[in-house]
Amino acid sequence: MIRIALPNKGRLAEDARELFEHAGLELEFRSERALQAALGGEYTALFVRAQDIPEFVADGAADLGITGRDLIEESGRTVTPLLDLGFGYCRLSVAVRDENPATSVAELPDGMRVATTFPNLTERFFRERGRTATIVRISGAAEITPLLGVADAIVDLVATGSTLRTNGLRELDTILESTALLIANPALMQDPERARSASEIAATLESVLRARDKRYLMANVPRRVLPEIRRILPGINGPTIVDVLDGGEIVAAHAVVDRRDINHVIAELKALGAEGILVTRIERLMP
Ligand code: AMP
Repeated sequence: MIRIALPNKGRLAEDARELFEHAGLELEFRSERALQAALGGEYTALFVRAQDIPEFVADGAADLGITGRDLIEESGRTVTPLLDLGFGYCRLSVAVRDENPATSVAELPDGMRVATTFPNLTERFFRERGRTATIVRISGAAEITPLLGVADAIVDLVATGSTLRTNGLRELDTILESTALLIANPALMQDPERARSASEIAATLESVLRARDKRYLMANVPRRVLPEIRRILPGINGPTIVDVLDGGEIVAAHAVVDRRDINHVIAELKALGAEGILVTRIERLMP
C-alpha cells in the first residue's frame, strides 16, 4: 500500500487534491477531520503540514509526497523528485526597505539582521555571496519585521510581489524559484513493486498535467486543402483525416492543438473553408 503525504491546507493542498481528482483518484474521507483518506481505492493519502513532507518522505513515513521545492531545499533532506507539477509557483527572495540603496546581497553589510522562515537557505545564500547574516528565525509574516525594527532585511516567498510593495519593501535577489513537486522516498525506488506503483502514479499525474494545456480539435474541411491543413494542424504525428460520407469532397480533420493556439487555428481553418469546428478538453495525454 503506497502512502502519499499531501499538504493539509492552503493553495498547494487545493491544487494537489484537484490534480488527483482529475486523474480519477478520488479521496474518500471517513470523517470530516480525518488526517488520512483512501485515495482512488488503491492508495492512502496522509494530510500533514507542507513543511513536514520532505522529512516524512525522506524517513519513509510516507512513500510519496507533494510539496514545494522551496520546502524540500530548506529541509536539506534527500528525496527523489519524480515530477514537477507546475502549480504553486513562488520565488524565495531577499527583500530590503525601498530606501536601501543596495543592488545585490553582496552590497549589504556583514551581520545584517535577516528575518526568515527559511534559515538554512538564507544562511547558505549569504555565505555563497561572501556575506554573513544574523538570522532572525520567525514562523511567519516576515514582511512586518523591518517595520518593527526587528530586522534589516527579509527572506520570504514572493508570488505577485504585492505583499512586499504594500510593506515598503523591494526584492533584491532571488534565492530560488519554486513549484510543487511529486517526490519519493529514495529507498522506495529499490523495491520493484512499489517503484512500479510510484511510476504509475507519476505517469498518471503527468498525463493529466500535459492534457491541461491541450485541446482536441475537429473540423470538416474540403479535401483539396489538405496540404494547408497539415501545416495548420501539426498534431502529435500530423492530423488524423477521416472520410465523411458526402461523396468525397469533405473530410474530417482531427488534431491535438495547444490551448493558446486554438483561436488563431480556428481562424485559419475557417479561411480555408472549414465547417463544423469542434473543440473539446482532453482528460489525459500520453504521447
Ligand atoms: P504576493 O503578495 O503574491 O507576492 O505573496 C506573498 C505572500 O504570500 C507572502 O506572505 C508569502 O509568504 C506568501 N506566499 C506566496 N507564495 C507562497 C507559497 N507558494 N507558499 C506559501 N506562502 C506563499
